Amino acid sequence: MAKYVYDFTEGNRNLKDLLGGKGANLAEMTNLGLPVPPGFTITTEACRHYLAEGAVHDGLDREVAEHLKALEERMGRKLGQADDPLLVSVRSGAKFSMPGMMETVLNIGLNDESVHGLAKQAGGNERFAWDSYRRLIQMFGKTVLGIDGDLFEDALDAVKGRRQDTDLDAGELQRLVETYKGIVREQTGKDFPTDPREQMRLAINAVFDSWNAPRAILYRRQERIPADLGTAVNVMAMVFGNYGDDSGTGVAFTRDPGTGRQGIYGDYLQNAQGEDVVAGIRNTIPLEELERLDKTSYDELVRIMEVLETHYKDLCDIEFTIERGKLWMLQTRVGKRTAAAAFCIATQLVDQGLITLDEAVTRVTGDQLAKLMFPRFDHGAEKKRIAKGMNASPGAAVGKAVFSSERAVELAGQGEDVILVRRETNPDDLAGMIAARGILTSRGGKTSHAAVVARGMGKTCVCGAEELEVSTAERRFTAPGGIVVAEGEVISIDGTTGEVFLGEVPVVASAVVEYFEGAEPADELVKAVDRIMRHADASRRLGVRANADTPEDAARARRFGAQGIGLCRTEHMFLGERRQLVEDLVLASTDEQRQAALDALEPLQKSDFVGIFQAMEGAPVTIRLIDPPLHEFLPDITELSVRIATSENPTDKDRALLAAVKRLDEQNPMLGLRGVRLGLVIPGLFAMQVRAIAQAAKEVPGARPEIMIPLVATVQELESVREEAVRILAEVGVEALVGTMIETPRAALTAGQIAEAAEFFSFGTNDLTQMTWGFSRDDVEAAFFSRYLELGIFGVSPFETLDREGVGRLVELAVQEGRATRPDLHLGICGEHGGDPDSVHFCHEAGLDYVSCSPFRIPVARLEAGRAALSETDSDTR
Ligand code: ADP
Ligand code: MG
Ligand code: MG
Repeated sequence: MAKYVYDFTEGNRNLKDLLGGKGANLAEMTNLGLPVPPGFTITTEACRHYLAEGAVHDGLDREVAEHLKALEERMGRKLGQADDPLLVSVRSGAKFSMPGMMETVLNIGLNDESVHGLAKQAGGNERFAWDSYRRLIQMFGKTVLGIDGDLFEDALDAVKGRRQDTDLDAGELQRLVETYKGIVREQTGKDFPTDPREQMRLAINAVFDSWNAPRAILYRRQERIPADLGTAVNVMAMVFGNYGDDSGTGVAFTRDPGTGRQGIYGDYLQNAQGEDVVAGIRNTIPLEELERLDKTSYDELVRIMEVLETHYKDLCDIEFTIERGKLWMLQTRVGKRTAAAAFCIATQLVDQGLITLDEAVTRVTGDQLAKLMFPRFDHGAEKKRIAKGMNASPGAAVGKAVFSSERAVELAGQGEDVILVRRETNPDDLAGMIAARGILTSRGGKTSHAAVVARGMGKTCVCGAEELEVSTAERRFTAPGGIVVAEGEVISIDGTTGEVFLGEVPVVASAVVEYFEGAEPADELVKAVDRIMRHADASRRLGVRANADTPEDAARARRFGAQGIGLCRTEHMFLGERRQLVEDLVLASTDEQRQAALDALEPLQKSDFVGIFQAMEGAPVTIRLIDPPLHEFLPDITELSVRIATSENPTDKDRALLAAVKRLDEQNPMLGLRGVRLGLVIPGLFAMQVRAIAQAAKEVPGARPEIMIPLVATVQELESVREEAVRILAEVGVEALVGTMIETPRAALTAGQIAEAAEFFSFGTNDLTQMTWGFSRDDVEAAFFSRYLELGIFGVSPFETLDREGVGRLVELAVQEGRATRPDLHLGICGEHGGDPDSVHFCHEAGLDYVSCSPFRIPVARLEAGRAALSETDSDTR
């Protein structure tokens, strides 16, 4: 029979799929003998069942009851028992951390009777008991009963006035509880549920439901977390940080998540519970100061942090509570970090002997590397600094200041760059944070909501810039010196230094890009990148080539480590002044005229190829013969018609051109006269290109051309083009491979035959994706992809990440059947997928020889190819 509930002593860190990250790690810490309050985890499977069926599984109530009973026995108290209550928290916890996205309810088990029992248990501490009770109603009301949280906040503020929450006495808190109960009655028409078991049951279901809350859905989409995982639920004995000043709650990292440096990083808040630290209720104190307040707990915490680092062999983040001088661990996980920290930490751990260089490569991702290649502010530029906050998430962001999530979304939708400025952010700001270029807050530390979420998204964030007075209502902030920045004014924020500047600060290339361009590694980060890239290169099996059409791109690609060009498009060689020659070609009415146009094009093309061969210094260059339909090179049909209609005496040439444009106009150019079809229909066109390639190769010593025929669907098309190409190559006396793109489903399906006439295949996965799905990319992406993503029809666009189940199968089939015909068939991919991390892993697994991608993605592809070789199973780096 299925088991839906696991005691913390039964689980371990490898059970994240089943127990969620929080549950699995609570179990791991329990097994390590660390001080974790006892409890149990309800599995993600139970959640999936609940979400699918709309009700919990039959056996779940019984299993929960059994585990609760065991917990009660262990604690020597019963849930909500009037004179001596056991209280529990009910906490969400999915496989991938979704900070603040889902629900947690603390202090379950309190009611009008047990609140007195709790006070008695606490040695007569009435204030503590009523504070816990009001927190329960507040959290339960908001998350389980769906009441607007502001109603509770406002009621609290009304009592507090200018005081802090800790200044309220027992009497005031007791009256607040009455007010809260009134709010519940008014909003739901029912009394606050006093039965502890009922409270627990409702809270568990609310956690299940929170998986599908709009903000959770949005977060998953942003972070590419699958929609069907569900969340686990942790039920855990409460420990209390709100007893008084000898108690408190905090969060910590074992290393700086911004730089990777080891040390004590965190925030602590005395006399507080749960969320207070991250919600910015009161100002937290830096964790170092805990040493002064409570040395015993502090030393214990530092010791535990070491235990965790050595055990997880990685940066961990931690939630803890101190209850009257006793430290309790409430959560840990391998912590989110900035891209720079990821590289530094990985190599630091190697130096500490905790991990191998192999592991270090799998600890960083191509996405992180890509982030390090974003531009940074120009240090030399003149700039007006108006504040300095914490460097919460690196990057250089410039945009118009906006003061609400809605406005951020609105302006970003109009194509504006915006910086979201808030006192502090909360989970409802998520949409605005996604829309913004950067996030700036005046309150909160590196563990605040803004910081954690921004780091997770790799978005620039400066937080806790306390010199700034942010007024959301007036849509402006003031900085020292009477500077006022209103909505719409441009600011620049530097997430690497924490600085805030007025106006637009110019940006320059990042140090990592300069390193790829050939600069010596100077700082710790670039040295770490260098070490990891070298090892990735040494480990990978996949070659990495570039998509490059010009000598400049080719040279950059080479510097970035490209081992060749996998796709050199020739279209651009027909643009600009050469359009004239294309017009002549199209308008030619005799063979002689046509040949004259081609003859004029040939030397121009040849010189293009010479430049590219030179830049590639003997590395292979795959040149694709012309692919787009010819009318793309001719004037626009409407423009031309208007020109003729409004002209006094239109030229014959214009008339002829219009006729040609009309003749070539297509309903569906994507499926029209293009690629190899063009080569077969227009005599001499491909021959001219092949001759230009051959002549150029002859001129550049060591040149290694590969001639690639686009859009082939049957071997017959390829054969006739190939025959001509081989003849021309022989005439000129140059050797070159002749191969084909595999970009129509039919080509993939008949790859065994096609391989008879092809020395290499290059998968054109843009077209292959379009034709396999029946999507015209330009039409569908804007029209309905966002809806499809919303509906979960796909988790990510198939144009971004190669669709393994559909397009991937065609690729695998073609690899297999192609190689069966021709064992030394050379295989690559040249669609945009070549630079996408997940797709690179697919290409590795499918047994391709290389991936080809745009020059800037080359380092990413090199790293991911190394990771693919080193981690045959996909590692969890989210
Ligand atoms: P999130 O996933 O949003 O971080 P958590 O489930 O971690 O939510 O809970 C929110 C806060 O409540 C955390 O600060 C945590 O430390 C605190 N908390 C959770 N369970 C307990 C407990 N049993 N005793 C004391 N504090 C708790
Ligand atoms: Mg937490
Ligand atoms: Mg194509």
